Amino acid sequence: LFIVLEGIDGSGKSTQTKLLKEKLAKAGHKLYTTFEPTDSPIGSLIRNIFNRRVVTDNRAIAALFVADRLDHLLNPVNGIIKKLEEGYTVICDRYYFSSYAYQSEEVSLNWLIEANSISQNLLKPDVNIYIDIDPEISMERLNKDRSSLEIFENLSNLQKVRSRYQEAFRLLEDKENIAFVDGNQSVEEISNAIFDIVSALQNN
Ligand code: C5P
Repeated sequence: LFIVLEGIDGSGKSTQTKLLKEKLAKAGHKLYTTFEPTDSPIGSLIRNIFNRRVVTDNRAIAALFVADRLDHLLNPVNGIIKKLEEGYTVICDRYYFSSYAYQSEEVSLNWLIEANSISQNLLKPDVNIYIDIDPEISMERLNKDRSSLEIFENLSNLQKVRSRYQEAFRLLEDKENIAFVDGNQSVEEISNAIFDIVSALQNN
């Protein structure tokens, strides 16, 4: 099984990845959890660009994400495809829908889908689980000590990212396995909803 968790910043993906891992391990799965951008040299290059806030063309960023994703899939030592072949259930925090949501400001969604066609053809997730949270709630989690101006900027960014996610899901709903979880619920309710989605997959 290849499970992807998606959501805007502060949606609780990392907490939910941990909880899902625990539940699936109890149910007898061999688990491998991973994330994007990865901690490989390519992923580190992306983080470096983001951390230093260097102005960089979004197509170049998107292409770096494509490269990071290909290595993430195909790496002969710890690539996702290898892990799946070894019998692991793989949980991945972000995958190509994150590129559609985050890199589509100056780049069209179609361009991004085209650029990602190699990874789409190589491996589609059994499910993309989208934790749908109200940006104001995720903002509260992210910002306890920032100025109101920063909060405003970030809130409008989160709203944009959320609407781009929604656009991508609408466009690709026939081609992709997408499941939505209400991220405004308690951590435990969200975790139960995610576990139910994954359990239903196994029973198919
Ligand atoms: O999941 P996490 O919060 O660690 O993601 C870190 C950041 O990386 C996101 O907030 C987003 O700005 C960026 N990102 C991106 N494009 C992706 C994946 C992540 O811009 N495809």
